[in-house]
Amino acid sequence: MSSGPTAQVHLANVVANWRALGALNPGSETGAVVKAGGYGHGAAQVAQALSAAGCQTFFTAHAGEGVEVRRAVGNAPVIYVLNGPDAADLNVYSEAGLRAIINTPEQLDIWRNANIDAPLALKFDTGMNRLGLRPETAGELATAGSGLDVAHIMSHLACADEPGHTKNAIQLKAFSELVRHFPGIPASLANSAGCYLGGDYAFDLTRPGIALYGGGHAPDGFELKPGLTLTAPVLSVHTGRTAETVGYGATKILARDAILATVALGYADGLPRSASNSGFGVLGGVRCPIVGRISMDLTTLDVTGASEWAKPGARIEFIGAAANLEEQADCAGTLGYELITGLGSRVERLYE
Ligand SMILES: *Cc1c(COP(=O)(O)O)cnc(C)c1O
Repeated sequence: MSSGPTAQVHLANVVANWRALGALNPGSETGAVVKAGGYGHGAAQVAQALSAAGCQTFFTAHAGEGVEVRRAVGNAPVIYVLNGPDAADLNVYSEAGLRAIINTPEQLDIWRNANIDAPLALKFDTGMNRLGLRPETAGELATAGSGLDVAHIMSHLACADEPGHTKNAIQLKAFSELVRHFPGIPASLANSAGCYLGGDYAFDLTRPGIALYGGGHAPDGFELKPGLTLTAPVLSVHTGRTAETVGYGATKILARDAILATVALGYADGLPRSASNSGFGVLGGVRCPIVGRISMDLTTLDVTGASEWAKPGARIEFIGAAANLEEQADCAGTLGYELITGLGSRVERLYE
């Protein structure tokens, strides 16, 4: 076992989450988003495990990430690059057999000028104003004269994580009108939260990311398993006395004597400094508050309630089955997405 922070990656859980998401929308293919290093879990390892489980379509943000995934999964699966092609990386698309997603008129020109004879996806903006072609250009792009081999039509939901938000129905309507221009061509709209919105949103292919890794807010009764367990070893256990302070800035004043444990995990490892005096670790099944400021390499917790387990070398959990990812992220004023994609390179990833 490492003497520093570790993230034990539960590939079997990622596969189980992927299967559970697939069962929600059995009429649709379930893809997998493995951008940002598989949300911090290791893109190659995650893609390989999902590919072995039958996943046939992967999504990365960058072409370089796509190359890494291609090496991991072999030639058969489809790998889409969400951010779309750039003139500088066109050769990578052909060499690694990556599929372009065209998001802008400029990307369309780049792709056409390159004369690459390969299928692609067209992504339209149905209300997010982020990345995507204008829906009014769909008619022209759908004609045979466009010379495009369109394999998928896509769009992205802005408010899927708020099931009651009116924007969902508006985007669904806009997307449904759009896909009518492309009869017989499979369509894809739903990210993880979109998978929970019901069959109307699933279309032919879903694109879950965060849910594969156990994050996001699943509906009641739908259990996701943690994609990883983040732990850090205790370096020191000592007693802090009433009225003493803890950490930089002396932001924590002890109201009573407390047993304090300092662990080898800090903001350089991705534990956000904003979780100072609000986040937690779990030791021996007991939730122990982070006290004082999180520093670069060290964090101190009040382990008074878990004193029987508190000794140097013991490992405290910060994300996992006992320390819920979204709850920890909430303490830091952020989302599970930011927490897991921000885990630092010093956190050793261990694979089962
Ligand atoms: C990142 C991304 C996804 C995955 O989103 P999650 O919320 O993590 O499920 C799906 N589609 C697009 C276009 C994305 O950029």
